[in-house]
Amino acid sequence: MSDSDLNAETSFPTLNPSERILLGPGPSGVAPRVLEAMAKPTLGHLDPEYLAMMDNLREMLRQVFRTRNPLTLAVSGTGSAGMEACVANLIEPGDAMLVCVSGVFGTRMRDVAERCGAEVRAIEVLWGETIQAEQVAAALAAHPETKVVGIVHAETSTGAHQPLEEISRLVHEAGALLLVDAVTSLGGVDVRVDDWQIDACYSGTQKCLSCPPGLSPVTFSPRAWEKIESRSSKVQSWYLDMTMIGRYWSNERTYHHTAPINMSYGLYEALRIVLEEGLDARIERHRHHHEMLKAGLEAMGLTYIPERSLTTLNAVRVPEGVDDARVRSRLLAEYGIEIGAGLGPFKGQAWRVGLMGHSSSRRNIALFLAALENLLVDEGLSFDRGAAQAAASAAATKS
Ligand SMILES: *Cc1c(COP(=O)(O)O)cnc(C)c1O
Repeated sequence: MSDSDLNAETSFPTLNPSERILLGPGPSGVAPRVLEAMAKPTLGHLDPEYLAMMDNLREMLRQVFRTRNPLTLAVSGTGSAGMEACVANLIEPGDAMLVCVSGVFGTRMRDVAERCGAEVRAIEVLWGETIQAEQVAAALAAHPETKVVGIVHAETSTGAHQPLEEISRLVHEAGALLLVDAVTSLGGVDVRVDDWQIDACYSGTQKCLSCPPGLSPVTFSPRAWEKIESRSSKVQSWYLDMTMIGRYWSNERTYHHTAPINMSYGLYEALRIVLEEGLDARIERHRHHHEMLKAGLEAMGLTYIPERSLTTLNAVRVPEGVDDARVRSRLLAEYGIEIGAGLGPFKGQAWRVGLMGHSSSRRNIALFLAALENLLVDEGLSFDRGAAQAAASAAATKS
């Protein structure tokens, strides 16, 4: 059979993606330095130059996670692969796991845990709320056999910022391990793996680290590693088995699967940018810009959904009478700005505005507020034009 029999198209358009301003729940904007790093020559995954880069990559990940954990690395795959890696390695079939559910990602963690054969119990709160320490204490008292407690630090579906320290104390008093989703916090909101005694933590590259999606930084405490090493059954996932992947990242360098070489270059450069700025300065920048955006949005009459908002993700209610989808599609088509829609119970009700990493800038706030103001006026809302910019500027000098 020849190509002509298939009537096959042989000419396809060149790839020409538009320059967007990415203010959604991820991916965030990527610095040119990161994209340039990804275009460098591909090395073999056992090339000494590549292995030297991996060692530095791992040291940078430890600094960003604020940990000394030996088992710290980047899993091949997006944040969900990191979630699956943490759960699959810590859970053996029949283990009791408590999952804290306050939105999409807690729900997903529960699903992953069930698939790994855990006896799952969940604490559920209304979307937009955070889990209370007393709820965890009660659940652990009712189920002292609990081995792992999973919780989302930054629930991207609701914009809520979950406090962890008190919960961590309770989990360890009960002899369990604490597993934390830090996908939308790492590199933008304070995450202290060692100080907070987090036993397993995963993140993603395309949120506050501002690297394209494709890798998932993870770290496991010595306590978690003990649990993994003493398993009586094999890790349910071959691809995500830390006992094997850890050997490739250790001095043994045993081949497991081919590392995503150029993705690692991207993460390497993105982490260099994070550490050049300084973690504390970066967290402060996210806070400062969040205060500016919040002041601007509130000046236009918008209201925040969560009581404790993240600085990296702003979830606000779509104003009464405004067409959610029309505003978002006009933002993209006319201004090149992407924001996120509501998920689950917030479908059609919420906008999720991310200010993550490279995207968290004063310039983006000014552009977004101006664009949104124009669109909301077209939607028939009335408010003082210019009030949003004025409020954001005032917040800039105040905070
Ligand atoms: C984005 C996100 C994930 C999933 O990451 P993917 O990169 O989409 O696989 C998990 N948890 C949270 C909190 C997220 O925001």
